[in-house]
Amino acid sequence: MRQIDKKNMIKEVLSRYWGYSSFKPFQEKAIASILDSHDTLTVLPTGGGKSICFQVPALICQGLAVIVSPLISLMKDQVDYLKEIGIAAECLNSTLSPIDKAKIVNKARDGQLKLLYLAPERLKSLWMRNLLKEVKLSFFVIDEAHCISYWGHDFRQDYRELGLIKDEFPGVSLHAFTATATVPVQKDIVKQLRLESPHFYIGNVDRPNLTYRILRRSSNLFNGIVEIIKKHPNEAGIIYCLRRADVDRISKGLNSLGFKNLPYHAGLPSQTRKRNQDKFLKEQVSTIVATIAFGMGIDRSDIRYVIHAAMPKSIEHYQQETGRAGRDGLPADCYMFYSGNDYQVWKTILTYSSHKEMILKKLKEIYNFAGNPTCRHRFLTNYFNQDYQKDNCQACDYCLKELEMVANPLLLAVKILTCVKEIREGFGANHIVEILKGNLTNNIQSWNHDRLSTFSLLESETKIFIRNIIEQLLAQGVLAREDKFKTLYITPRGQKVLESKMVPKLAKPLITQKKDRGKKKSKREKNEILKDYDLKLFELLRLKRKELSEEKNVPAYIVFGDKALKEMAKIKPITQEEFATIFGVGQAKLKQYGKIFTKIIRSYLADQA
Ligand code: ADP
Repeated sequence: MRQIDKKNMIKEVLSRYWGYSSFKPFQEKAIASILDSHDTLTVLPTGGGKSICFQVPALICQGLAVIVSPLISLMKDQVDYLKEIGIAAECLNSTLSPIDKAKIVNKARDGQLKLLYLAPERLKSLWMRNLLKEVKLSFFVIDEAHCISYWGHDFRQDYRELGLIKDEFPGVSLHAFTATATVPVQKDIVKQLRLESPHFYIGNVDRPNLTYRILRRSSNLFNGIVEIIKKHPNEAGIIYCLRRADVDRISKGLNSLGFKNLPYHAGLPSQTRKRNQDKFLKEQVSTIVATIAFGMGIDRSDIRYVIHAAMPKSIEHYQQETGRAGRDGLPADCYMFYSGNDYQVWKTILTYSSHKEMILKKLKEIYNFAGNPTCRHRFLTNYFNQDYQKDNCQACDYCLKELEMVANPLLLAVKILTCVKEIREGFGANHIVEILKGNLTNNIQSWNHDRLSTFSLLESETKIFIRNIIEQLLAQGVLAREDKFKTLYITPRGQKVLESKMVPKLAKPLITQKKDRGKKKSKREKNEILKDYDLKLFELLRLKRKELSEEKNVPAYIVFGDKALKEMAKIKPITQEEFATIFGVGQAKLKQYGKIFTKIIRSYLADQA
């Protein structure tokens, strides 16, 4: 096929089925490589449009594309969506009845399918491999490919064995996709899958529409969460907790205040879990309080905030979990409440896991991220081995100047380090706080620590303040904590600080700051792309979407995303031709929904007249 014909065909398919008129970064190139049968590795952030990179070529190529995906719910949602827009797709999984399974197998054999979704363990079975050998295949896709790597954050043994594809299906191209992969993980994916001279498409990991805020957690956690929810009335949000008990407590507390929400964790009966997840996806409830068991496959695109009630266990997890916000590209807020205790809790939970060293390294990295008052976007982007170009992201607590920095961080750090030195690195953080604060505790008296030069040196500061600064010094590797007795000692970096060769960045703990951060709106929020849409009409359209999603038993975003509804509420199309120009309206959606939605818009306009 000539290049120009190929380009036109790709565009035509995108518009006919999806109703989109342009590509997101890397999509067109990734699609072209797949059409040319080059192996590929594509890393695009959540919401970057990975699925279309393989769904479009699956339609253009002859034969069946096999998509390996880790979760049944994830496959089901994608297949529902594809069917909705008129594409022949199915998934084979353990929940199907033998009759339904047989029907799908027959369709695959008869060449009636373009995409078949499978779990990795199914692909390993001899029966499945034999079936696929009878069928003309277009290519293989490994979705969530980071699960292949020990260095990734969700390692799965079944994924590790996918190297078999190259042995058993020589000549069929193989394409790996993921949202989060550091350079070592990318290398591991290529090696394990034995990709042959792959083309790499590594997108920008940064999510500019997300605003990151990291707050120190204290007894005010619940109120903090309530304040955030109040800033997002009627908007969708996820609250992540570390433990099931926290989920139950916060969920109940919020419900009792009238903030309707549902809990989700592995301790709930599977039916309840499924029901709660479905209600969230169908917009019957806008807030879900969950452990990290909730998430993979949550494609709801209009999530406006994600709150971490505790520190997640790695930056990769943080990126994935916050990544569920703002998939529609509109602004969304991410808040993390953390404390040094989270680090200890995770360490205990993870003690018995395999690859312990690597897990602890990741834990240190996220702790370092939380306790480092610098641009959050820059930190995350650099973590994934990319450069960050902007001087000010305009989308994090640091760059929005919501953090009040300590006026003389070097002097403050030296005072604390001197105290640690004076007590010969033999005590824990609490004792150090008491010395600096100048409290005559029993311990201090029995050790004569009231005679130290640093006793009461930070008398005018609160204990919370001193404790938080110590945490920041720990997070920045200026201090370290001995494993067994939790005593603090000075690291080589700390030595540099003592010699004034390095200055740590220290922020006043947010809870001691008085500013109302909520009132300050970022530039991006003010410039919101679709801001002048008709809110009343939008709500009417949303109601209809909810009704349709319940009727069809699919998540609401499968009917239409928020972006499409907002565009309808702005442009107010009343004819089929006008409706066809709306973002996300392809041929199948025009046919199914064109009349329904234009009717609402017409009657709304008539009422207004
Ligand atoms: P990912 O899997 O990378 O997280 P998805 O494939 O789910 O992302 O895409 C995220 C959202 O962006 C979906 O709603 C999808 O329909 C939409 N999308 C994908 N490609 C385009 C495009 N070229 N133009 C507009 N929207 C797109």
